[in-house]
Amino acid sequence: MKHNFGAGPCILPKEVFQEASQAVVDFNNSGLSILEISHRSKDFEAVIAEAERLVRELLNVPQGYSILFLQGGASTQFAMVPLNLLADGAQAAYLDTGVWASKAAKEAKKIGDVAIVGSSADKNYTYIPKNIEVPADAAYFHYTSNNTIYGTEVFDIPSTVAPLVCDMSSDIFSRTINVADYALIYAGAQKNMGPAGVTLVIVKDDILGKSGRTLPTIFDYESHSKAGSMYNTPPVFSIYVSMLNLRWLKAKGGIDVIEQENIIKARALYGEIDRNPFFKGTAVEEDRSRMNVTFVMENPELEASFLELAKERGLIGLKGHRSVGGFRASMYNALSISSVNALVDTMKEFEEKNK
Ligand code: PMP
Repeated sequence: MKHNFGAGPCILPKEVFQEASQAVVDFNNSGLSILEISHRSKDFEAVIAEAERLVRELLNVPQGYSILFLQGGASTQFAMVPLNLLADGAQAAYLDTGVWASKAAKEAKKIGDVAIVGSSADKNYTYIPKNIEVPADAAYFHYTSNNTIYGTEVFDIPSTVAPLVCDMSSDIFSRTINVADYALIYAGAQKNMGPAGVTLVIVKDDILGKSGRTLPTIFDYESHSKAGSMYNTPPVFSIYVSMLNLRWLKAKGGIDVIEQENIIKARALYGEIDRNPFFKGTAVEEDRSRMNVTFVMENPELEASFLELAKERGLIGLKGHRSVGGFRASMYNALSISSVNALVDTMKEFEEKNK
């Protein structure tokens, strides 16, 4: 039995893997593989329509928003957001809370004027800057809701009159959000939505078409919206598997139910990190992420030996990102409480052995 704590691509439910593998061989008893059918076939149109319906239903998306399934990862959104929303002469505000947030700002600077309105770089991104001031006339305010590498999460949306744009790649579908608060949300799928290869964009229609730029069609949200994400061939298989995963989430009871599970999982692991004298967390307590738990050892020389024990116990993907070191346990929706308990038990076992 493997317990996959990988940061992404990451664990998805076993049932989703099984159903997806069946569809690779024979999709809907059609005698054809999902990999060989046209994206314009009736069968695939039903898939993408259901995926869109599930996104709308699970996140309670209000009227007036388009749901797009695009390619190029969240990194392409770092450029598409300013291309579409940052007009010449205007300024966008960015919050710098980690590697991904600063990459997003760096790309925007290539396109227009950007103000960094807060940063936690001074303490290696171990906290979320508070009480930031966003200029009221900012074209938009961009932040990253969950910092996958540093294990911090933004639970209180910064209050601003500027339109909100959020990179939710690593915590979308893990907790309730109010979509109406946002002008645009984007997320690479490969955490809580599905496999790599598709990027979800939820965009308020009335903010589009105001950049004053003539964009290449492929970078223009409006062209994707008008074409129902079929301007060009969409990532058929990734959308299909995402749809299966969202069906799984709905059958489980939706976001309210998964959020409670995620709270319980986070409590169990942070509780052990705080109790066990061998380990310590890296993020400040109030900003601790429920999705990516970053921690180190009081004595870093023991880290290799803990990783070795973890491997023997079937715990995979725990090595921390090089910019934080130590360990990172990613606990996305499909990771069960029993996997978290297996990690907690292994931390206790390590403590006993090294006392
Ligand atoms: N934003 C966040 C918060 C991420 O975690 C990641 C990747 N893990 C990215 C952006 C980049 O995503 P992609 O690789 O899909 O471009």
